Amino acid sequence: MPSLHTRARKRFGQHFLIRPEIGERIIDLAQLEPDQNALEIGPGRGALTGRLAERANQLLLIEIDRDLAAELRQRHAANPSVRIVEADVLRIDLEEELREVAPVTVVANLPYNISTPLITRLVEWPQLYRRMVLMLQREVAERICAPPGGRDYGSLSVAVQLAAKPRIHFSVPPSAFRPAPKVDSAVISIEPFEKPLLSDAERQAVRRLTRGLFSQRRKQMGKLLRSQSKNAAAILEKLNIDPQRRPETLAPDDFVQITRLIEDNA
Ligand code: SAM
Repeated sequence: MPSLHTRARKRFGQHFLIRPEIGERIIDLAQLEPDQNALEIGPGRGALTGRLAERANQLLLIEIDRDLAAELRQRHAANPSVRIVEADVLRIDLEEELREVAPVTVVANLPYNISTPLITRLVEWPQLYRRMVLMLQREVAERICAPPGGRDYGSLSVAVQLAAKPRIHFSVPPSAFRPAPKVDSAVISIEPFEKPLLSDAERQAVRRLTRGLFSQRRKQMGKLLRSQSKNAAAILEKLNIDPQRRPETLAPDDFVQITRLIEDNA
């Protein structure tokens, strides 16, 4: 039988939380009511899972590691409100998996290699989640929450901030995990806006635009937009945006307005 003391698998970004009081704080931030359902991504050896199972109405666990999924299945066999899916969360049909339990509170201590694609995907579905409480690399947490103007601000900040309100709650040192990661972590919450600001098509268009602009973030908007639209100068003028500004100085809503005008003039 697999053991929870099997070696951590590097390819799955396994750094297991060993400080129960940090798990406690994460669960408290989730603010789960007894009638609410939860999703834990990457439950691993279960540092957060037992407490989540106690507090949630239904709990869905998605774990990629076969041995850990088997162990969790055995541990929660007597609890019909816990369901374990052994899968790569980036590859499964999450909408389908969540159909019967959404909206869920998402709780996760995320491996660094999946946090950005997962978060950008989850914020696209405000109907699926109520709140997310995530532990991730501090640097990614800072990028998500960054206001315009600094180096941390980029297409990830814009994507999240147009769909939800992100907030950093506290930092967690490498010593809180085994094996210890090389970098600091942070716990954040992400609360979706009650009403989405953008349609799916608009959100995708803004995402395409910002990824392109921020990949050349030292360039000025005037030059950058010329490759997107023949009306670049007129668009910036209409929005009162100095063509010499760099993308990192623009607010999330500026990118929405620019996208709309590009589409209107296309
Ligand atoms: N929640 C546990 C904790 O706090 O100790 C484990 C956290 S560990 C940083 C990340 C967990 O995510 C591991 O259990 C790993 O196997 C799992 N994982 C990694 N990639 C995954 C993926 N693509 N889909 C689902 N689970 C994944």
